[in-house]
Amino acid sequence: MAVSFLLDPQQEQLKAVARGFAREHLRDLAAATRAEPDPRARALLVRPVFETAVAAGFLKGLIPVPFGGTASSGVDAAILIEEWAAELPDFVIAMAGPLIALAPVYQVGSPDQVERFVAPFLADSGAPVAAMAFSEPEGSANFDADGPGEGIRTTADLDGDEWVINGRKAWASHLCGWDGDGPDIMTIVCRTPGGVSLVVAQREHLAGRIEVEKYYDLPGLRGCLTTRIRLVDVRVPRGNLLGEEGQGVDLTRSAFLPSGASIGIFATAAMRQAFDLAYRFALTEKRGGPVPIIEYQAVSDVLADAKGKIEAVRLLTWRALDAVMSMHPSGPELALHAKVFGSETGVAVVNELVKIIGVTAYDQDFPIIRHLMDALSYPVIEGSNVGVRRRQLQMLFRTPGYDPLSASGMA
Ligand SMILES: Cc1cc2nc3c(=O)[nH]c(=O)nc-3n(C[C@H](O)[C@H](O)[C@H](O)COP(=O)(O)OP(=O)(O)OC[C@H]3O[C@@H](n4cnc5c(N)ncnc54)[C@H](O)[C@@H]3O)c2cc1C
Repeated sequence: MAVSFLLDPQQEQLKAVARGFAREHLRDLAAATRAEPDPRARALLVRPVFETAVAAGFLKGLIPVPFGGTASSGVDAAILIEEWAAELPDFVIAMAGPLIALAPVYQVGSPDQVERFVAPFLADSGAPVAAMAFSEPEGSANFDADGPGEGIRTTADLDGDEWVINGRKAWASHLCGWDGDGPDIMTIVCRTPGGVSLVVAQREHLAGRIEVEKYYDLPGLRGCLTTRIRLVDVRVPRGNLLGEEGQGVDLTRSAFLPSGASIGIFATAAMRQAFDLAYRFALTEKRGGPVPIIEYQAVSDVLADAKGKIEAVRLLTWRALDAVMSMHPSGPELALHAKVFGSETGVAVVNELVKIIGVTAYDQDFPIIRHLMDALSYPVIEGSNVGVRRRQLQMLFRTPGYDPLSASGMA
């Protein structure tokens, strides 16, 4: 079959619909969230638009077809994410919780678990949210460490037919839900007697059992509802364990693959917006000289290099998302490259574009630094490149029989 990178008519339609939604609903929301200083109030501003997106069927678009949703290909996901993240990446992160939290449910969930845990996200109303409660305040890069006081600290112990969960979690969007009583589902990475395991808590188990210790005031992605919480004696049925006890390390790593790959598209969105601003500035501004600054080779060179890198990251990420969402064996490696290369290219390119605009860029009212603030998060979220993602590449490279050509299909 031929390889084609042209969007088909349905993808053109998806792009147009996603762009229309972003311009109609997310542009004003971005301005409103920037103007609100309180992190909690800021995140709550997102809710009405979130409900509009759910009613329009976008949330179902994150659930794979075999589980009742309408999610199609990785490239479709990339198109939607880029169009929305170009206006307001925080909104996409707030909506994308099910992508991570439900991934292990799809992988090892029983039919009963699939039905119970996926159901809230198939409704076309309300604002259902899911949290993947992996990160902990004391650190998560070494979550699989097993020595005394190391690794995951949240515990789940059996009391009769219930798991009793205690511990502290941080960073995951919507850990506390919209109202402090929790998200619709929370997939909790915890330590059970059998090792690191995943247990799902539903809102009815979380209500009244979450203490919010802190609302993070993020420098970028300002509308994300990001907290540090304590789970206090959360009781969930024994049947909410996903897979087997001790399967949690592998399930957690797999759960973050599609979202890790998607970081390349978040970075593409930040670069694309910054490029647009810098390009228009260069075309129109003379800065007191005789010609628009694009006439200077030094300025044009920065634009040329930036554009090439944007195209490269976009294509790499399309390929990575296509591979992870179709469960192709090249998915893990390509997802890691999209995350690491995409996020670090994003920061570097936006920074270069700021420099050609010059001092004008260093004014909050000039709309480029906000993209740098968003881009700065991409190397450290979804598993930092230093502490998590490059180490995963190292593991791949050390696998016996690893073939450097296989991810490209050229082996
Ligand atoms: C907006 C936003 C959304 C997020 N969403 C989620 C979510 O949905 N779910 C979730 O669980 N988390 C979420 N996070 C947290 C995020 O995924 C982090 O990447 C994760 O907590 C791991 O952080 P870390 O890799 O910096 O690890 P840490 O354990 O905090 O390590 C800190 C640093 O120490 C160094 N380090 C530690 N150990 C090693 C090692 N063995 N080798 C080399 N270097 C090491 C690295 O430099 C590393 O960056 C989110 C964060 C933000 C800001």
